[in-house]
Amino acid sequence: MNSPAPLVDQFQRRISYLRLSVTDRCDLRCSYCMPERMTFLPRKDVLSLEELHDLALGFIARGITKIRLTGGEPLVRRDMIELVRALGRKIGDGLEELTLTTNGTRLAEFAEDLFAAGMRRINVSLDTLDRETFTRLSRRDSLPQVLEGLAAAKAAGLKVKLNTVALKGVNEQEIPDIVAWAHGQGFDATLIEVMPLGEVEEDRIDHYLPLVAVQEDLARRWTMTPSDHRTGGPARYWDVAETGGRLGLITPLTNNFCEGCNRIRVTATGQLYACLGGNERVDLRAALRSEDPEVQLSEALDTAMRIKPERHHFAIDKPGAAPALARHMSMTGG
Ligand code: SAM
Ligand code: SF4
Repeated sequence: MNSPAPLVDQFQRRISYLRLSVTDRCDLRCSYCMPERMTFLPRKDVLSLEELHDLALGFIARGITKIRLTGGEPLVRRDMIELVRALGRKIGDGLEELTLTTNGTRLAEFAEDLFAAGMRRINVSLDTLDRETFTRLSRRDSLPQVLEGLAAAKAAGLKVKLNTVALKGVNEQEIPDIVAWAHGQGFDATLIEVMPLGEVEEDRIDHYLPLVAVQEDLARRWTMTPSDHRTGGPARYWDVAETGGRLGLITPLTNNFCEGCNRIRVTATGQLYACLGGNERVDLRAALRSEDPEVQLSEALDTAMRIKPERHHFAIDKPGAAPALARHMSMTGG
């Protein structure tokens, strides 16, 4: 896999960031993400460790410099740490950064191994610090494990960014406290708008909270200065004088964040989705399982560059509307 051509789409966006889902399974059932009775994929459909590794190397050969492992919950996959170790060896050799998005339930077990493998930054999703709200929202009583995991990550030397989905009537009142708590722990904090991905049991419009309103509320409370900090993702950042921390806002629905898009996503079955909010996709598993995987994979990546859309088309402001996309976030990876 030594084609040197970098990945550039038809809108001249250079694609350097891969979000790779290693499993669709999860030990939580966050109500905005998946239904309680979620159907998971048969294991044979999911890429093997070797396939994930070959795939990642194929991407690195085409100029991907940052890989984020996600899911589902990546740390519930048994051989996950082996993949982290193998990819960790590519850091400084094509790969600049290897990161992870996790719900934190198993971090206490893995934080040190992640650091030892070369990982330096992770995103941990946490929508509430209240145990009852956590249990209601994620349908599992796992807040203590997550807090333990966060402490272990910090102790291991991992830089943590806390991601919080802003949910009207659920954690709305708690947002300033979550941000202040995160900053007090030395974590960055990022707020995310809920997106219409996949069927869940409730109507997401009930909980849709536009972040412009949250931002206005926080700006009344705190001195917020726009920051030029960038992480290669879609967040825009503010420095908060009172907490001494950094706050990111990801507003896919109220702002167009597509212009500078540098990302592609691959599901645990090897489907490359050119856009989180679109159905344009290429089957990389077929390429990997073909007679000539290196060539087929590289050609598939060229196809992906041709079909990556200019922007996403989802909107959430239609009460009772079907989700913009049938697939769940846990499939494409957050
Ligand atoms: N299980 C891991 C976790 O929760 O961090 C990784 C996968 S999860 C799908 C990645 C991120 O997507 C989480 O921060 C989660 O809150 C977010 N997410 C899931 N469904 C979403 C939705 N419909 N709208 C916005 N964010 C969503
Ligand atoms: Fe699992 Fe993450 Fe989805 Fe919550 S957001 S159900 S932790 S995949």
